[in-house]
Amino acid sequence: MKKINQVYHALIDAYGKQGWWPVTDKGEVFPEYKKRKAFSEKQMLEVCIGAILTQNTSWTNVEKAIMQLNKNKLINVNKLAKIDQSKLAQLIRSSGYFNQKAERLILFAKYLLNNYSGSINKFFNKPLQNLRQELLSMHGIGPETADSIILYAAKKPVFVIDAYTKRIFSRLGFCEKDISYHELQKMFHERLDCDFKLFNEFHALIVKHAKQYCKKKPECNNCPLNSKCQKTYKHKNLLNKHDYT
Ligand code: SF4
Repeated sequence: MKKINQVYHALIDAYGKQGWWPVTDKGEVFPEYKKRKAFSEKQMLEVCIGAILTQNTSWTNVEKAIMQLNKNKLINVNKLAKIDQSKLAQLIRSSGYFNQKAERLILFAKYLLNNYSGSINKFFNKPLQNLRQELLSMHGIGPETADSIILYAAKKPVFVIDAYTKRIFSRLGFCEKDISYHELQKMFHERLDCDFKLFNEFHALIVKHAKQYCKKKPECNNCPLNSKCQKTYKHKNLLNKHDYT
């Protein structure tokens, strides 16, 4: 496998489109993966909330928290900005670190309210780098959370890096295990077309693949990238590092 986009094609052939980011449709309370033309403002806010809640926990735990927020009609900037922090913490308990995350959600909502009259559309209607800098200046929002919000809620092209991306691409031979967030992100940006749909789908496929086969203890036998992977090639003593660009 010579090109990073060949990994993308192999993954999409194996798993198909993932329909990220899962959001809740009108009248429902549970977020679902589904192909949608556009997100409503509430759904964009839900993605931001989900990106904060998913820090250090699984999506299954986040879904339960989002369901509670939906049941209590709290996917709403005005309501979130005013809610009692301990009450919110109890509602999002399933997502772990619930006191910290409640504080972060309230601060995020207050920021939108104070600076953009509560309009997430106004907030997203600015150049990508300015939006990123602003998100990174907020309490408790690091590069992965900021980039998830930019890609999946604002639909602007930035590649999201996470532990799964580092694990898979180091095993495939594209980088070292301890590569920094920004170095690995730069590699994707330099080698892929700048297309938010591609970045959206690719990251979702990486997560799928890390959960399905490229786990901490990889299940290489049936992996769709098996024949192209450095780890298995190394094992078979067939690796030619220069095949990887
Ligand atoms: S062959 Fe194994 S190490 Fe390589 S990508 Fe597949 S599961 Fe991961």
